[in-house]
Amino acid sequence: MNKDQGQEHTPAIDDIKEHQLPQVKITLANPLRWVNSYILRGEDGVTIIDPGPRTDSSEQEWMNALEKLAIRFDDIASIVLTHHHPDHYGLAGWFQERSGCQVWMSARAHQEAELMWGESSSMDADLPDLFRRHGMPEVWLQRLSEHLNSFFPQVTPQPAISIIHDDLPFRMGNRIWLPVQTAGHAPGHLSFYHADSGVLLCGDAVLPQISPNVSLLPGSDSDPLALFLAGLSRLRELDVRVAYPGHRHPFTHFRDRIDALLLHHEERLHDIAGMLQLTGGLNAFEVCLALFGDKLGIHQLRFAMCEALAHLVELVDRGLAELGENDNATLYFSVRQSPVS
Ligand SMILES: [Zn+2]
Ligand SMILES: [Zn+2]
Repeated sequence: MNKDQGQEHTPAIDDIKEHQLPQVKITLANPLRWVNSYILRGEDGVTIIDPGPRTDSSEQEWMNALEKLAIRFDDIASIVLTHHHPDHYGLAGWFQERSGCQVWMSARAHQEAELMWGESSSMDADLPDLFRRHGMPEVWLQRLSEHLNSFFPQVTPQPAISIIHDDLPFRMGNRIWLPVQTAGHAPGHLSFYHADSGVLLCGDAVLPQISPNVSLLPGSDSDPLALFLAGLSRLRELDVRVAYPGHRHPFTHFRDRIDALLLHHEERLHDIAGMLQLTGGLNAFEVCLALFGDKLGIHQLRFAMCEALAHLVELVDRGLAELGENDNATLYFSVRQSPVS
């Protein structure tokens, strides 16, 4: 995730008060700070949206929150996941073990959870291989596998999944919601729209103040940025009065925020195209450093590298860059300067 320069907007307090959803904040490291779990109570029991990662401290935070909210494990009927990232999906299996609840996500998100966290996942080898081909030095690659494997405890045990279908009405907390599936930040990401009140639970599809990370990953969607931009355009059509995001505070300037994100990515594409034109070609790691600097730790560097790749792939798809090779690394050239015929 990148913190961008977007303005802080003052939320329309009345809208937020009128539609307020009970929310549990589970602490995360910077820059995310916390993940929002939303609690919907209905005749058929309690639904928890995105319970957060599994850590000792998040378990304790939930035990305290459940006591405060007078919710017993037996009261929990469903966990609903916007997407498969560990900071949202991680505790789902832990809740399922204690409550017997159903855990819901999209089929595409479930497939991506298998790719990342399944028994046959080879992401700890495949992602370093991809980054090696795109110029990342060995000193970083050696730390990457261990870093990726450090997430397994945060998603263990893994839940049995029930499937939510895009665009088919879904009942939570006595309301009928429309699931809206988008991609780019995470394949199969679901937002949930309640048309009567204009409330949208938007996970990480749109965030205030933070630009959701858009990642190219091996074995996943081949042009995540194009999918992310298409998803923003789809969400922009909804008449949203209050958006409840996965991180930070509820906000009301939903369309303005989408417009800022669309502009941010077009500007970034333009900047990278300019870099390729000024140089004799760059690999993705060089583009990553030029965009995000060289002070990142392995966690942020991984997201930065995947984001640089997502933009480079999109430039190629738009016919503004071409691929070549140099010293076993893939290079990207401005189309006008490309040595590739
Ligand atoms: Zn996410
Ligand atoms: Zn998140």
